[in-house]
Amino acid sequence: MKLDEIDNKVNAVDLKVKILSIDKREINTSRGESVYYYGLIGDETSVMAYTAWEFPGVIKAGDVVEIKYARVKEYNGRLRVYMDSKTEIILKPGENLDVKNTYKEVKLQDISTKTPFVSVSGMISAITSREYNKEGRKFLIYSGFIEDDTSRVRISSFGRPLENGKIYSIKGARVAEFNKQMELSVGDKTDIEESPQDINFERNFKIFDIKNPAGSINIDVFVITFGLKSGIIKRCEICNKPLSTGVCADHPNEKTVLDIFTYFTVDDGTGIMQAIAGKNAILPLIGIEEDEIPKYANEIYDKMNEKLYGHAFKMNVDFVINEDGLSLRVNSISELDETGLKNDMVEGV
Ligand SMILES: [Zn+2]
Repeated sequence: MKLDEIDNKVNAVDLKVKILSIDKREINTSRGESVYYYGLIGDETSVMAYTAWEFPGVIKAGDVVEIKYARVKEYNGRLRVYMDSKTEIILKPGENLDVKNTYKEVKLQDISTKTPFVSVSGMISAITSREYNKEGRKFLIYSGFIEDDTSRVRISSFGRPLENGKIYSIKGARVAEFNKQMELSVGDKTDIEESPQDINFERNFKIFDIKNPAGSINIDVFVITFGLKSGIIKRCEICNKPLSTGVCADHPNEKTVLDIFTYFTVDDGTGIMQAIAGKNAILPLIGIEEDEIPKYANEIYDKMNEKLYGHAFKMNVDFVINEDGLSLRVNSISELDETGLKNDMVEGV
């Protein structure tokens, strides 16, 4: 029998399945201590939970087994396979079985490397493609963003087109951590389907609400400290590394570019965060063009400090992973009427 043929009318089932997980639990009953096993089994058609009162010690997760004389019962609204002393569990050494993939559907703010494959839905933006050669064949790699009502994260796809502005349901995307943020990738086994739906892309949150790295979030904040060493830095034009000596160790003959580096603390009444911002966020705020940076070298710190410190802003930020939690990378800053935010903060207290 296949797992998708099982219903709660069948009594004794014979199955050939892969053991996907085995967990053990000890319980105290009126008859003393006893042990049971539980986990997931799967075949080509489905994945199902099981409970076993006896389980051969030689069997490990990943093994293919034949299960004879098991029972099926509904538990919490879902079917479950039960194995007791009458059940035979026979190891099939060397055999393999393809298991139907089932992935948890998550919001983009909840993806984590603890769940390496997930299903997500969202709109694709800022996609670019480039050619890639693998074993003499040419592929296109697409990279850009996917966004839903909770976050915007980087996504890349090897050979499978993703189009800007389209909303997809993506099942079995791989999760990775890159550059202190979460990232998704689409591979051969990922299902992609266009799935039009209404999504609110505003993503206005309070600092307290954000528990995981998340991209392109709008927060209303006061800047409560401004870092003393904020100012102008040099970066390598090739690798973008900040250069304390003025020369990149990896690209000593390449050009350098000037950037702004600022660090400050923000408070929105629900939480306090460390933030960093570069020229894209800061220059429009202080009204200086990029090619004017050298001209303002001596006064830029004072300009930034005066403009930022103690004032209220709407910021679009990425919450990124830091040694001790999360911090902010600021994408853009716009001025905010301070009275509104002050009232919010008083209510928050
Ligand atoms: Zn470099």
